[in-house]
Amino acid sequence: MIEVRELSKRYGAVRAVDGLSFTVEPGYVAGFLGPNGAGKSTTMRAVLGLDAPTSGEALVNGGRYADIRRPMCEVGALLDANAVHGGRSAVNHLRCLARSNGIGDKRVVEVLEQVGLAGAARRRVAAMSLGMKQRLGVAAALLGDPGVLLFDEPVNGLDPEGIRWIRDLMRGLAAEGRTVLVSSHLMSEMAVTADRVVVIGRGRLILETSMRELTERF
Ligand code: ADP
Ligand code: ADP
Repeated sequence: MIEVRELSKRYGAVRAVDGLSFTVEPGYVAGFLGPNGAGKSTTMRAVLGLDAPTSGEALVNGGRYADIRRPMCEVGALLDANAVHGGRSAVNHLRCLARSNGIGDKRVVEVLEQVGLAGAARRRVAAMSLGMKQRLGVAAALLGDPGVLLFDEPVNGLDPEGIRWIRDLMRGLAAEGRTVLVSSHLMSEMAVTADRVVVIGRGRLILETSMRELTERF
C-alpha cells in the first residue's frame, strides 16, 4: 500500500505539495486527479524517493523508499516515457536495470513478452515510437514484480490502441491484488480506469472518494 502523510514539498517559494495525506490500498486502481501543476508528479517522486520531502513522508508498504532493500521489487513506476532514451537496445536497457536490482535475465524476457515487445527486443530505444517507449517503460516498472505501481499521466500522447492497452493493464494489475496509483488531469480518464479517486489542487487534498460516489454526486 501507499501512505502519504502530511507531505509537503517546496521548490523555493512554490509549495508544490502542501500538507497532503491519503492512503492507497491494494486491489484497486486509485486515480490521482488534479489540474496541471497540482502536485501529482511531485507526490509520486516523493513516493519513489526521487525527491526528499520538505516535511512529512510517503511510505510504500510501511517503509520509506530509501530504506527498502530491493526497491524495484516493491514499487514500479512509469513516470515519463520520453525519459527513456539512449542508444542501447530495449533488451539491454532492461538487462541493465534488472542486474543493478538483483533481478535475473529470465525476467527480462518475461516482461518484454508481457508488454508485447518481444519482437522488438533488439530495437534501439532511441529509434522507438512513443508508444513503444511507453511499453518499455511499463516493462521496466514490472521487472521486479512489484506489489505497488505508479503511473504518471500514462495515456498522454498514446494512440487509441495504446490507451486501451494501458487501461487494461492497470485494471489487470489491480485485479491481481496490487496497489495501483494513476495520475491524470482528466476526469474522463478517471471515470474509465479508477475505482477510487484522490483529487488534489495546489498541493492540497480536495476529495478522496470512490468513483461511484463521485459520479453520483456530480
Ligand atoms: P502535476 O504533476 O500535478 O502537474 P507537479 O508536481 O509537476 O504537478 O508540479 C507542482 C508544482 O511544483 C508546479 O507549480 C510546478 O511548476 C512546481 N515544480 C515541480 N517540480 C519542480 C522543480 N523541480 N523545480 C521547481 N518547481 C517545480
Ligand atoms: P539513472 O537514470 O540516474 O541511472 P535510474 O532511473 O536507473 O537512475 O534509477 C534511479 C532510482 O529509481 C533507483 O533507485 C532505481 O532503483 C529506481 N528506479 C528506476 N526505474 C524504476 C522503475 N521503473 N520502478 C521503480 N523504481 C525504479
